[in-house]
Amino acid sequence: ELEAARNAASKDDLRSPICCILGHVDTGKTKLLDKIRQTNVQEGEAGGITQQIGATYFPVEALEKKTDVVNKDKSFEFKVPGLLVIDTPGHESFTNLRSRGSSLCNIAILVVDIMHGLEPQTLESMKLLRDRKTPFIVALNKIDRLYSWKPIANNGFRDSLSLQNKAVQNEFRDRLEKTKLAFSEQGFNAELFYENKSMAKYVSLVPTSAHTGEGIPDMLKLLVTLTQERMTRQLMYLSEVECTVLEVKVIEGLGTTIDVVLSNGILNEGDRIVLCGTEGAISTDIRALLTPAEMKELRVKSQYVHNKTVKAALGVKIAANGLDNAIAGSRLLVVKDKDNEDEIEELEEDVMSDLENLMSKISPSKRGVTVQASTLGSLEALLEFLRVSKIPVANISIGPVHKRDVITSSAMLEKAKEYAVMLCFDVKVDKDAHELADQMGVKIFTAEIIYHLFDDFTKHMKALNEAKKEESKMLAVFPCVLKPVAVFNKKDPIVIGVDVVDGNLRLTTPLAAVKHNPVTGVKDVVALGRVTSIERDHKQIPICKKGQPSVAIKIEGANQPMYGRQLEESDTLYSLISRASINTLKEFYRDDVEKDEWTLIAKQLKPLFDIQ
Ligand code: GDP
Repeated sequence: ELEAARNAASKDDLRSPICCILGHVDTGKTKLLDKIRQTNVQEGEAGGITQQIGATYFPVEALEKKTDVVNKDKSFEFKVPGLLVIDTPGHESFTNLRSRGSSLCNIAILVVDIMHGLEPQTLESMKLLRDRKTPFIVALNKIDRLYSWKPIANNGFRDSLSLQNKAVQNEFRDRLEKTKLAFSEQGFNAELFYENKSMAKYVSLVPTSAHTGEGIPDMLKLLVTLTQERMTRQLMYLSEVECTVLEVKVIEGLGTTIDVVLSNGILNEGDRIVLCGTEGAISTDIRALLTPAEMKELRVKSQYVHNKTVKAALGVKIAANGLDNAIAGSRLLVVKDKDNEDEIEELEEDVMSDLENLMSKISPSKRGVTVQASTLGSLEALLEFLRVSKIPVANISIGPVHKRDVITSSAMLEKAKEYAVMLCFDVKVDKDAHELADQMGVKIFTAEIIYHLFDDFTKHMKALNEAKKEESKMLAVFPCVLKPVAVFNKKDPIVIGVDVVDGNLRLTTPLAAVKHNPVTGVKDVVALGRVTSIERDHKQIPICKKGQPSVAIKIEGANQPMYGRQLEESDTLYSLISRASINTLKEFYRDDVEKDEWTLIAKQLKPLFDIQ
């Protein structure tokens, strides 16, 4: 039945697939886009390629023309009406083209620099593509940089490769194999596109050059093949509107406008629309549906053409009142009956539920970091990443960081200091907010790559822990009992020879003698200071264990008692422990304290210093 439906579907019933380009910075995403948009001067016209808002539309005629060189016998049949390519490359548009967690981007091109292999943002893009289950192909770009590559402009890749000398072919194979290996390490099986037997199982690698145009015909053909093989069903034309806000922009003369991608359905001037805003749902009427004017029309006053109605898939600018607080990444819904208040209310709730769903990802204990992102889509991606990384989140927000956001985060200073941290993805932090954060001790981390935030946070946690351990160092007192055997210096500093009769003597240990007044029976704790040096045979050692040969130790401290006065050589010396020192050992040094040492603390030292 499905098969029948598929066969019956004419081009008119199918809408054009939407394609995003992702990849690491400088791999050539922008250049590739430019190259595929470029009019072929020799052939005269652009074949109906239209520049839209935030996207470029390639009608099937243009695709046919651009793939001609790799489809000379016309054996490949185009079934899609065209292809809509989103102009802003990168995560931003991909993460925002979303609807209830699924992707409205039907297909993606992941660009990899063949000379560099997989880079940090490549991995991040792969993760996003995997999460959203978006089929993609890989453009292995910059093949013209293979040593002594001889270019043939806009040629099919296979033909170009066959005309290279052996050394170039070998270098290509070598880099190809390395890339395949790197992909398999990430859990993707990849194959060179013309060696790929199953697009369902293997990712196709298509070598390209955005400079020479080689491989680009293959890339376009492959994109269409992949959509036709994998997603005809999703591309059936539906009347229901599916539309996403990609950008919110202030335009002179128009006020705040939204750039949207209409993935499905139809929009009309005057339609009442509902979308997500930072201050609650926005419902407003479409005042104008704008697309860019073509070159020849530029002499008319506006740079935009007004459209009475537009049909999916396309990118269009919407002008309307009340869009100031619109959130990029929001779904856009259309009200069927403008007079039906109930329907409007329902749609408002529906559209705001996207934001509320994200709110529900906040840690129930309300202990966690503050997360701020530029758009709904990037916030969603970031929260998912933090969930997997097990970093708890207490607050979320969209848009630039203001003072009030810092204040929200600062509540954590009391509850859980380590979480007084703001992880900001692709947003500006205003100056006042920065200053306030510095004053209050709230850490702000900003990044353009999601997992850089993770690295920053991990580093922050590690530093905090180390600082705590360092602080605790002086508080940690390991137990020992010493018998002095000689006094070399009576005071300031005290230098004596000792035998360790129990426990282990370590540097920095505070020592005390406990004197009983035989007449009054009062117990007097005489603190000597801390051990600053342990020496045997004129060599410094960090530790002297029970039963080892005698050592000479230096003890320093304020208001030291004096041997011959408050102290005698025969006085036994003990580690001066306290409740706090025991707690510190338990918290930070549990593994470093031996069983005998715990016993020594409990049986001998605790009673001596009256610790319950
Ligand atoms: P993006 O950051 O991914 O959008 O990368 P760009 O398109 O801005 O390209 C980054 C740099 O790589 C620019 O200097 C481009 O000229 C260069 N570049 C892009 N594609 C190619 C290519 O196919 N071959 C060569 N040799 N250079 C390229």
